[in-house]
Amino acid sequence: MRERTCRDCEPALIPLPAPHPGPRCGEHHHQRQMAISAQKHANHVLRVYNLAPADFVALWRIQGGSCAICRRANGTTRRLSVDHCHRTGQVRGLLCRPCNSALAQWVRENRPAAILYVTNPPARRLHHNPHAKPLAA
Ligand SMILES: [Zn+2]
Ligand SMILES: [Zn+2]
Repeated sequence: MRERTCRDCEPALIPLPAPHPGPRCGEHHHQRQMAISAQKHANHVLRVYNLAPADFVALWRIQGGSCAICRRANGTTRRLSVDHCHRTGQVRGLLCRPCNSALAQWVRENRPAAILYVTNPPARRLHHNPHAKPLAA
């Protein structure tokens, strides 16, 4: 078997450890996949929600780096979804999948966390009006 080297390793002398798709070692293969995935996600979010990558990160920070409703999911294992109002098309915030899919139901049930979220969405604090005070809870 021919010894192959990773094109991203410095210096590029480390043989690929296992049969691996592509010209990179395991670590760089993973990094590359993550970068491609992040780029695809950024393009998607920009196209569908008109939310620039910097805004996605800013919004995530505004929310304290976690799902705007449950405050548990932080998006590291699975990216938080961009939630938007289906009526206005406005982005409201970033939610984990369970919260995103349950939101409409929770609003109908008048759950406080869900009501607070839709009446004062975190995206409202995103550069539109940086000095706006959050609505009284
Ligand atoms: Zn490498
Ligand atoms: Zn959540």
